[in-house]
Amino acid sequence: MKVYEKAPAKINLMLDVLHKRQDGYHEVEMVMTMVDLADRLEMEELPRDTIIISSQAGYIPLDEKNLAFQAAKLIKDRYDVKQGVYIHLDKKIPVAAGLAGGSSDAAATLRGLNRLWKLNIPETELQELGAELGSDVPFCVTGGTAIARGRGEKLEAIANPPQCWVVLAKPPINVSTADVYGRFRADKLQSHPSMTQMVQAIEQQNFHEVCGQLGNVLEDVTLSLYPEVYQLKDAMIKLGADGVLMSGSGPTVFGLVSKESKVSRIYNGLRGFCKEVYAVRMLT
Ligand code: ATP
Repeated sequence: MKVYEKAPAKINLMLDVLHKRQDGYHEVEMVMTMVDLADRLEMEELPRDTIIISSQAGYIPLDEKNLAFQAAKLIKDRYDVKQGVYIHLDKKIPVAAGLAGGSSDAAATLRGLNRLWKLNIPETELQELGAELGSDVPFCVTGGTAIARGRGEKLEAIANPPQCWVVLAKPPINVSTADVYGRFRADKLQSHPSMTQMVQAIEQQNFHEVCGQLGNVLEDVTLSLYPEVYQLKDAMIKLGADGVLMSGSGPTVFGLVSKESKVSRIYNGLRGFCKEVYAVRMLT
């Protein structure tokens, strides 16, 4: 038997860091949503007690370092499953991009294996399992749009933002999330983005206000380390995107665009100097 799952990329419409906690994690407040750029996972039951991962992408680990492997191992161990599984990852989400590709694959694996092995694990329990794998995994289990607090695992579902186009561009650099958080100084922050106003803009389906409330306190850290991210952001604004922000710890920059007629101009303009550009719809 086989099951299929889609693992969409997430973007942060707002990312605020409140303080560094005793346990070393940062206390965050985020608004996350998903875009229609997705990996596809195929999971097939194996009679042998083994986990095998394959992918067409040559640049991700296929062993126990892969988050889909870790998700499969966790669910097998926790629910004492004796069968094995073969998981094929058709990667479409750029890796180490700030789009939670690995986390979404892990979440899709949890959902898929819950179905494949008929475990009937409730969604909240899948989210708890996900939190053991990474801070973004609980959100990716459910998707939609949510406020995330704590280290990202405390979720509150909210309305989806108004439908629009999302142009994503990833410069050819690898940014380490740990490095960005390591350099971030919460005490040096001049201002914080407003969670209340972002949520209100979303609830009122006010596209221009959503664009106006976009904010990510990690942006300054990544932009100062990598001028190419700054240039990309600047280019997207000049090409006419309605709102522009870096996602997560970067380096992907996304632009929200309401008019379809503007999308190809922005896409083509960016393609002039950035190889990885995507124009997709918000997943609502
Ligand atoms: P986040 O926004 O959650 O920080 P990201 O988009 O920056 O995530 P990922 O694409 O999840 O980053 O990749 C981060 C690291 O995880 C990479 O170094 C990659 O080798 C590793 N990795 C493990 N499993 C996967 C997977 N299934 N897909 C992509 N990367 C994976």
